[in-house]
Amino acid sequence: MNAPLNADLHCHSVVSDGTLTPEELAARAKTQGVTLWALTDHDEISGQSRAAAAAAACGLDYLTGVEISVTFLQQTVHIVGLGFDVNNADLIEGLQQTRGGRSQRAREMAADLARVGIQGTFEGALKYAGNPKLISRTHFARFLVETGVCKDTYEVFRKYLTEGKPGFVEHRWANLKDAVRWITQAGGMAVIAHPARYKFSANEELALFTEFKGHGGQGVEVVTGSHSAAESANYAAIALEFGLAASRGSDFHSLGESRTELGALPDLPGQLTPVWELLAQRIHHAPTPAQA
Ligand code: AMP
Ligand code: MN
Ligand code: MN
Ligand code: MN
Repeated sequence: MNAPLNADLHCHSVVSDGTLTPEELAARAKTQGVTLWALTDHDEISGQSRAAAAAAACGLDYLTGVEISVTFLQQTVHIVGLGFDVNNADLIEGLQQTRGGRSQRAREMAADLARVGIQGTFEGALKYAGNPKLISRTHFARFLVETGVCKDTYEVFRKYLTEGKPGFVEHRWANLKDAVRWITQAGGMAVIAHPARYKFSANEELALFTEFKGHGGQGVEVVTGSHSAAESANYAAIALEFGLAASRGSDFHSLGESRTELGALPDLPGQLTPVWELLAQRIHHAPTPAQA
């Protein structure tokens, strides 16, 4: 049975495209009633020791986390890794490779936006990037809102930066097989992030789940900030069908922009195996008040 645990195993800090520091996120997660937390920055684990220390200091249990960008059937798919060893050399090297093309891509995005009359976006986006090596579409979106090109980041992604729109640059991320292997060989669990957000046909989605499982993937996000109740129910059924454990995470990025507050999510449907049951040995337990 699922314990009614307020686990939030997906969010972003200034190390990738969030606006809060790992310490600010830990404090906010605690205030929001989260008891088990993971920081999952895009393609980058340099915030992990800060996050784990902040979690311990404010009394949160912690799982290490990352969200790896993968290209599968010409689409970007995100694979969350949980409970891995942050010192694993292959994981560190794989993430470094995955991050590698971001600056060049950002320059091409800016050149494409300049062609439709929007100037200065590389420098503009870079101002928002807490980590210059991790310049992301989110940072461009914030700059386009700041300069009044769009009213909010949702409008930016509707009009720009997505396939077929100005500012979109095709990019090749990691292979699915490699990403799953980096995570699992570092002792962690690979989890398909926000599966309802991809634009796959039924056959392509079947291929994603089948190959993911074949490579050793063990989990899927059933409850996430961007899933409707119907989407969660659909992926609960798919988790059961594929024998995958279920994860839960807000995908919180920032105060004004995120749809979902940290920890403010429905519980996992009861018949599923929560990822944290399989990762029990990997949880960094917060010191009890007597130990602290
Ligand atoms: P990147 O890794 O640079 O391609 O940026 C991807 C990030 O952009 C995601 O992690 C989200 O934070 C944000 N994003 C992508 N698509 C959308 C969208 N349609 N609406 C809002 N944010 C989006
Ligand atoms: Mn993001
Ligand atoms: Mn994602
Ligand atoms: Mn995310």
